[in-house]
Amino acid sequence: MKLKIVSLFANSNKDRIYGDIYNSSEDCLQAHPHDEVLHGFGVMNENTKLLVDASDDFYRSETAAQRFIDEQLAAASTSEKRVSCQMERGCPEPVTHLDQDGWAYCTGHGLQRRLSQPCRKLRPHELNRLKRGDQITKY
Ligand SMILES: [Zn+2]
Repeated sequence: MKLKIVSLFANSNKDRIYGDIYNSSEDCLQAHPHDEVLHGFGVMNENTKLLVDASDDFYRSETAAQRFIDEQLAAASTSEKRVSCQMERGCPEPVTHLDQDGWAYCTGHGLQRRLSQPCRKLRPHELNRLKRGDQITKY
């Protein structure tokens, strides 16, 4: 995911709350000739060329837009750390089971594992530990 800060314009009434968002101040003025034009920033996904869908997609400062990007990148790198099923390299299923040796598996592979050795369902707090990159030391 490549994110880029872009310059944006939005119309505003006296309340300083932005209305519609435009790429140029001319377009904004044309559509809302009686409104004030606010200058701000948005975050664009360079792959889709679309503004990133977020509740707050018009930032009044570049710093705020950059903060949003940093948060998105941090979230993306966390999800890459997601534990994966150990039965098959590249198994896309989410991990739900743990065997006696401490290996994690998805539901299907966990049930398969259970045929040869004890393998139980992970508890929610254990899943959270794994997602944080922590180990589960006890079966
Ligand atoms: Zn699996």
